[in-house]
Amino acid sequence: MTKNSYDAIIIGAGFSGLYQLYKLRDQLNLNCRVLEKGSGIGGTWYWNRYPGARCDTESHAYTYFFSEEIFQEWEWSERYPGHAEIRKYLNYVSNKYSLNKDIQLDTEVISATYNEKNNLWILKTKNDETFTTKFLITAVGCISTTNVPDIKGLNKFEGEYYHTGNWPKNDVDFSGKKVGQIGTGSTGIQAAPVIAEKAKHLTVFQRTPNFSVPARNNTLTKEFKKYVKNNYNELKSLVKETPNGHAFRISEKLTFDVGEKEREQKYEEFWEKGGLQFRGVFKDIITNKQANDSASNFLKKKISQVVKNKEFAKILTNFDHPYGCKRPPIDTNYFETYNRDNVHLVDIKKDPIIEIDKTGIKTEKNYFKLDTIVFATGYDAMTGTLINLNITGENSLKLKDYWNEGPKTYLGLQIAGFPNMFTITGPGSPSVLTNMPTAIEQHVEWITNCISFMIKNDFKKITTSEKESVEWGKQVKEAADKTLLPTVKHSWYLGANIPNKPRVFMPYAGGLPTYTKICENIKNNNYKGFLFY
Ligand code: NAP
Repeated sequence: MTKNSYDAIIIGAGFSGLYQLYKLRDQLNLNCRVLEKGSGIGGTWYWNRYPGARCDTESHAYTYFFSEEIFQEWEWSERYPGHAEIRKYLNYVSNKYSLNKDIQLDTEVISATYNEKNNLWILKTKNDETFTTKFLITAVGCISTTNVPDIKGLNKFEGEYYHTGNWPKNDVDFSGKKVGQIGTGSTGIQAAPVIAEKAKHLTVFQRTPNFSVPARNNTLTKEFKKYVKNNYNELKSLVKETPNGHAFRISEKLTFDVGEKEREQKYEEFWEKGGLQFRGVFKDIITNKQANDSASNFLKKKISQVVKNKEFAKILTNFDHPYGCKRPPIDTNYFETYNRDNVHLVDIKKDPIIEIDKTGIKTEKNYFKLDTIVFATGYDAMTGTLINLNITGENSLKLKDYWNEGPKTYLGLQIAGFPNMFTITGPGSPSVLTNMPTAIEQHVEWITNCISFMIKNDFKKITTSEKESVEWGKQVKEAADKTLLPTVKHSWYLGANIPNKPRVFMPYAGGLPTYTKICENIKNNNYKGFLFY
């Protein structure tokens, strides 16, 4: 095999890329290379270092389960791991299995082209290197292409500006600064309280209010750490059994199975527990509008009680979507932040941003002088990064063109016309509707089994058909339509946050166990829907 020629190339060195490398290299003995754009490993957590960046999944679930040894050796310090601790964890895993030697950092893939004659993928990088590989596996994450809105005059701004998803590696010093933050999704909700503590003044520009439940983060006690270590098998089973891959169950009770008093008590109990678990308070919250209204009203009441400024409280609770139907944020003192003297909130639906000039942001009715602007404006999620890789398949088919009307995949794992290419947590898989490491492990293991099957049977090529992809697309739509998720107007699940992006509900909403079963059945049925040559 010549230099830069591999059995498998994996793009990305986050949770998915590291595990995929381990499986293909150490289990199947393939000659592998990971190409990573960043100067370090960590994927999402390499780039997201903004103030307050931490995971919304509890640490005892935001972890690899494939190795009990890792699980027992590693100890998380907080209920929700911070970005630096997650990077430390992934570096520990990487060192443990000597993954680093097969990871090439500072290497951005700028194109991937399938060569039909040789049945190989040819990859070009920004530093002018060429790689060839039999199997191409994208491990690029679902939310990695940042969205900086095209606001008139941004290039004239003389202060500093940052997108949260591309945060500088050194701390940004906000002290004495007037900061403007645009965006109040999961990221903005984490960032604002921390920025407000450091900055002279913070102005938050909110387009759409977002529900958020207190995270109730804490340092883990010795007892809890012991409980986690003693329950590896139980926790491993639990994350695989629950629809969203978290280590908590969703109640079997329906909202109106219980009387008003009990319902309120339940809401209070889950509000106190904190975090994403609030979604599990009743079974029908994201499927029944009346049930959702009940939970949404509870949250609205809670938020209004926290925020003292009545005008701000109104702006923060003027919801346009059902709770949990956009990715629900969780927070540490987000709503409390609006009680600080140095924080101001602007409703840009009523007073839209017109332009940015040398010294600040101009809205229709006001002007805000700023030293720093923080864009917490989200991502071209699920498809953006894959499309930006400039992937070309059989018959010169470009992924960008094939997905012109929205992503089409078979199981979110393969794309018709792009042989020997696998997409870890691709569109059409549960991915972002679940705890990512759980979804990643399922995909990586399925892909590894599939490649192993090919090797055993001496198959050189796997592909899928347009027909299967269209059929799977229907199942993805049907699963979403059983919920209230597609009713949201502005949701990145639907691509609605990116101008001109086709409106398609991208993740599979039927739950991880159902999806896993479908994938297993397909595997056990000689990979039905896949074609081997
Ligand atoms: P997001 O949920 O897409 O939120 C982006 C925010 O920016 C929204 O408030 C949006 O307003 C606003 N915005 C976008 N374009 C705008 C424009 N042109 N003008 C004004 N406002 C604009 O992005 P995110 O908060 O970065 O979160 C993305 C996802 O990352 C999350 O949903 C979650 O899955 C993941 N995440 C995970 C964690 C974690 O686990 N630790 C933390 C953070 C994020 P509209 O709502 O009106 O569009």
